[in-house]
Amino acid sequence: MSQDFLTDNSIPDGNGTMIADYYDVVIVGTGVAGLFAALSISPDLNILMISKDKIKNSDSYLAQGGICTLKEPADFDSFLEDTLRAGRYENKEDSVRVMIENSPMIMDRLIEYGVQFDKDKDGGFEYTREGAHSTYRILHHKDVTGKEITNKLLNNVRERSNITLCEFTKMLDLIIKDNTCHGVVVMDGMNECLKVVYAKEVVLATGGIGGLFAHSTNFKHITGDSFALALRHNIKLENINYIQIHPTSLYEVNVNRKFLISESVRGEGGILLNKDGERFVDELLPRDVVTEAIRKQMEIDGRPYVMLSIKHMPKDEILRRFPNIYRHCLEVGYDLSKEDIPVTPAQHYLMGGVKADTYGRTSVDRLFAVGETACNGVHGANRLASNSLLESLVFAERAGWIITEEIGLVEIETPSVDLEKYKDIERWDDENRQLIIDEIKRRDIEFYDKWCNN
Ligand SMILES: Cc1cc2nc3c(=O)[nH]c(=O)nc-3n(C[C@H](O)[C@H](O)[C@H](O)COP(=O)(O)OP(=O)(O)OC[C@H]3O[C@@H](n4cnc5c(N)ncnc54)[C@H](O)[C@@H]3O)c2cc1C
Repeated sequence: MSQDFLTDNSIPDGNGTMIADYYDVVIVGTGVAGLFAALSISPDLNILMISKDKIKNSDSYLAQGGICTLKEPADFDSFLEDTLRAGRYENKEDSVRVMIENSPMIMDRLIEYGVQFDKDKDGGFEYTREGAHSTYRILHHKDVTGKEITNKLLNNVRERSNITLCEFTKMLDLIIKDNTCHGVVVMDGMNECLKVVYAKEVVLATGGIGGLFAHSTNFKHITGDSFALALRHNIKLENINYIQIHPTSLYEVNVNRKFLISESVRGEGGILLNKDGERFVDELLPRDVVTEAIRKQMEIDGRPYVMLSIKHMPKDEILRRFPNIYRHCLEVGYDLSKEDIPVTPAQHYLMGGVKADTYGRTSVDRLFAVGETACNGVHGANRLASNSLLESLVFAERAGWIITEEIGLVEIETPSVDLEKYKDIERWDDENRQLIIDEIKRRDIEFYDKWCNN
């Protein structure tokens, strides 16, 4: 892949440290939200997509369970109610409605882009179910749905000549003047230099904050950089302390990232057991309820895990439905078809984020936020399983539409940037991390004490 994202317009600054460039749109992040936004923007526009790490190292790639959809109109009310109940009725109902209404169209687009969902014996789609869903409405590709979707979107992005992809390129800052965004300052890790990229519109699609936690299912480099910049620049944040802890990650010591044991394992009949081999919770309750039950049970048992059992499921069925989970568990010494596995809660998802409307617009002009970075109110206080891929896609597409519609009216502006303050990047990153943790603590000391302070 070409790492050189400079166009003919680029201007070296003379001493080799600063290079400025110009794009119609810069999209920060190459997970499903960033990729789908790029595909939804007119191919006549010049787009730069950057990723802090390898292009494929996004949480989107890790999604196992699946993606919710409205499988028939009659399910609308129940889908809405399940989402609101899981979100403790703190959701913005209008946003939830937009998400559900658009879901069949999103599935059609995914299929057009080449995504394959598992089918049943009769050739129809096979729907699965996860915690707090009152029916089967989740499409999946084995237990690697995120990989399937992300790969196919990426293939399509690579075919678009208007989109330039750059990996190991980190957004350090946003260029904001008079409450309007004019571009980004980036560290090009391949060429080890700072660059200024001016743009008419900027889309933040940097995912969540898992990298800030000692125990998380997220990639370590997903550290909520957009939120730190929001705090630095007074961009409105919402519910940044609404952080989901997933009840079941595989208990392993000394691992960088906790391996998720998808909720669909419980959806397909997996049970949770205490140290005496007894069930202690209804496994299909919302995530936060199951997490709290596990946390209490671990205290009672005096162990950092509880057990999860799926032994009753025939081995060929386990292999068909959960090949990736089966393989990983076997690699670390557990045969899911014969033995129980130790599981423990881990940080998993951020419901809050940069405050955005249903088109991804933020409190700053020409700055959009989509995917896990955005808080458009869909998830309320707690996300319903498998709603996040869907939410990412629906609102990224809408951001793409509005950018295409409005960009003709925008003139590029190039306020000057002082690069001196980014010279000590380690310090800049430490400050970013501290800004977010302090904000979580300020908003919810109880959550901070339970999950951040270790
Ligand atoms: C293990 C796991 C399993 C999951 N399973 C499911 C599931 O079954 N169903 C479901 O709906 N959801 C699931 N989720 C949640 C879902 O995958 C994510 O919420 C969603 O994919 C987020 O997509 P995104 O595009 O917003 O962010 P991500 O996919 O996280 O992408 C973020 C991108 O931003 C880049 N980035 C970050 N900071 C910077 C920076 N400063 N500069 C440049 N680039 C930056 C990263 O490199 C990356 O490319 C799961 C999540 C995990 C971790």
